[in-house]
Amino acid sequence: MIESASAARERLKSLAGVQDSQGLLMTATLSTSRLDDWRQFAPTFLNSEFTRTTKERSLSKEERHILQQDLDFVLDTVNYDVTPETQGLAVFVEGRAGLADKMELPMRLTNRLVVEPSAYVRPVVHALSLLEPFAVAKVSRDESSLFLVDEWRVTEEDDLAGPWLRSTNRETGDVPIKEYYAAARQDALVEHHFKEVATSLAKLLEASGVRRVVLCALHDIGNGFRRQLPSAVAAKIVAEIPFDALATTAQMIVTAREAVEKARNAEIEKLALWVQDALGVGGRGTAGFDDVLEAVRLHRVQTLLVDRNYRVPGWRCLSCDWVGLAPVERCPVCEEPTVAVADAIGEVVRLTILQNGQIEVGENVQALSALGGVAGVLRYP
Ligand SMILES: [Zn+2]
Repeated sequence: MIESASAARERLKSLAGVQDSQGLLMTATLSTSRLDDWRQFAPTFLNSEFTRTTKERSLSKEERHILQQDLDFVLDTVNYDVTPETQGLAVFVEGRAGLADKMELPMRLTNRLVVEPSAYVRPVVHALSLLEPFAVAKVSRDESSLFLVDEWRVTEEDDLAGPWLRSTNRETGDVPIKEYYAAARQDALVEHHFKEVATSLAKLLEASGVRRVVLCALHDIGNGFRRQLPSAVAAKIVAEIPFDALATTAQMIVTAREAVEKARNAEIEKLALWVQDALGVGGRGTAGFDDVLEAVRLHRVQTLLVDRNYRVPGWRCLSCDWVGLAPVERCPVCEEPTVAVADAIGEVVRLTILQNGQIEVGENVQALSALGGVAGVLRYP
């Protein structure tokens, strides 16, 4: 089943909250793109990773038996339950707790099998962040369209005809006499059309919660349209792409998605520079694993900035949410046993999700690398 971005986000949050005190929650992420020979490769990969993981963890016979059943669920999902257009699959399972869930994405995920106290949600968080829903306003003088695009496709299209077009006989192209006089006021009509489109766009953004808009228009028309936008809406236009009458909607959406991606990376760069200036006492910036984790645990992080490729192994408490980079046998907070985790940044991401923090994922963002690959904007100084 392919779900909406908002439904996926809700599900992700509840998954992030599941904890297994024996550390046996299984997460499998796989590329299911047709480009990869995944149907052949995935079962072999999962079985060999399973053998490696169970050896490393020196599990009891009973624990291994439980895990084997969880693996069987993953294998069944891989073999029988993947939608053809899916590019990436994530399966989360902890049979004893009744957790058996999967998410399908239009983006390849790295092949991994993880058995840890919590679900490894980071790859899905990243994918949803990179595929964030956006809107496109395709604007001309008299005929415009608004598109809402989720991570998969256009989910809503609203075509708006201006007064000029409405008054013309579409079949013959004839213009009635009274509209002939109206043509003299065409500038006013165009402005009227822009106002209507602006109102519809504002409504669309409010109803969908979409944060970024791409404007598709000839340059002068784009400028005219912008002048009619309320400032809150104008601020959400992050990119402009040229109006191409020959391009199909699908082609336009591809161009628009690339423009959003570029704008998003530029915003993250700017935000990382802002954080750099706001570090230290009294500032609202934080950076580096230890400081960011501390801020997250105190529920102080409003926006987490994370480098997509920054992963670092660490240790995690089986009982509470403590995580650290140095190996310790007992949790420094609650003295319960700890377990190794493959990606300590994944824990920071998971905790941020639980607190409804915003997560921005950057790739090759220089200012973010300079901050140690992970940084945060605090809710208060
Ligand atoms: Zn603990």
